[in-house]
Amino acid sequence: MKEGSDVPSKNVKIEQKVKYSVEEADCLFGGMNSVSDEFRLLIAEALSRIPRKEADWAAENVAFFSSSFREYAFTLNPRDWKHKVGLIFLDESLKEKDEDGQIFMVLHEIAHNRLKHKSPIFCKLSQEDTDKQEKEADALAQKWLRKNA
Ligand SMILES: [Zn+2]
Repeated sequence: MKEGSDVPSKNVKIEQKVKYSVEEADCLFGGMNSVSDEFRLLIAEALSRIPRKEADWAAENVAFFSSSFREYAFTLNPRDWKHKVGLIFLDESLKEKDEDGQIFMVLHEIAHNRLKHKSPIFCKLSQEDTDKQEKEADALAQKWLRKNA
């Protein structure tokens, strides 16, 4: 972490002190994020709302990508996975939610990673297990937001 890097970004309109600037979030993710500028801002805002320790964990352990990245298509080859980070996909439809809803969704997905949840897309999970994971991710995201409120 760079010193003096907690200067609030003027691009971020939330009232509270912003701990993660967009540039800082990009840098911490090791350049692995492949998202649109709007989502870059959203990720920085979301990380700013949770305890620093958790944001640092997320920065080291997950990467985001979205369909609105500047590319028509992109590939992640096996070498890209050397960090074994979790990948979080942000769909364009996320923008239909209000700001708090978008931030909560980002934190909910980070929480899934934090809790080492399995993806129902890639693993066979019962509906019960899927529901349990969803509740746990919601609860952890809410806990982070309360801690940092
Ligand atoms: Zn979920």
